[in-house]
Amino acid sequence: MRECTGVNCVKTMKIVLFGPPGSGKGTYATLLKGQLGIPHISTGDLVREEIKNKTPIGDQIVKYSNSGKLVPDETITQILKRRLSTPDLSKGFILEGYPRSIEQAKQLETMVKIDVVLNLNVPEKAIVDRLSARMQCRNCGSIYNELTLKPAVPGKCDKCGGELFKRDDDQPKIILERLRVYEQTSSPVVDYYRSRGLLKDVVVNDPNASPDVIIKKIMSLI
Ligand SMILES: [Zn+2]
Repeated sequence: MRECTGVNCVKTMKIVLFGPPGSGKGTYATLLKGQLGIPHISTGDLVREEIKNKTPIGDQIVKYSNSGKLVPDETITQILKRRLSTPDLSKGFILEGYPRSIEQAKQLETMVKIDVVLNLNVPEKAIVDRLSARMQCRNCGSIYNELTLKPAVPGKCDKCGGELFKRDDDQPKIILERLRVYEQTSSPVVDYYRSRGLLKDVVVNDPNASPDVIIKKIMSLI
């Protein structure tokens, strides 16, 4: 933890969190939020909220995805800018899902000064094992995991008794493809922060370690 002893010293912790799909990023963000008492900002959640609330931006996003187009960078930046200007962030935040390009990293610099960038390193095999063990209920959509969150009766949903199945995008081949895409898009941004001395690597050697162990590790780094 950084020292902060001055009378007028306002200690903030503005964190960007990077990690591949299936790295447990969401879990760590939630635990860190509890430890540090600062909000967790996920651009994915912000986008879903806009859609749910049927805001003008939300309607625009739906139009993009209906026509098979990617949501433009500027739209995401616009939503994030508004979120970053709300008063609950005086002590800091944990930002996830942004920036995805050096361009966005530069945009972010114009909005706020980031204190630290955490980069989760999880062995590829652990991610494939974890994601390929996922199962979903055909009826109500609940998610299970053959390794970590087993249903009481194999193949049946605890909540509604529906049939459990594996989604096509949880096949090892497709997971590896998603990891490649993540690697390609994130590595320039990770390098950008590394060169600025802001990056801290969080190495998760034992993928079965309790999340609390990883959180302790993170707390000692920041
Ligand atoms: Zn169900």
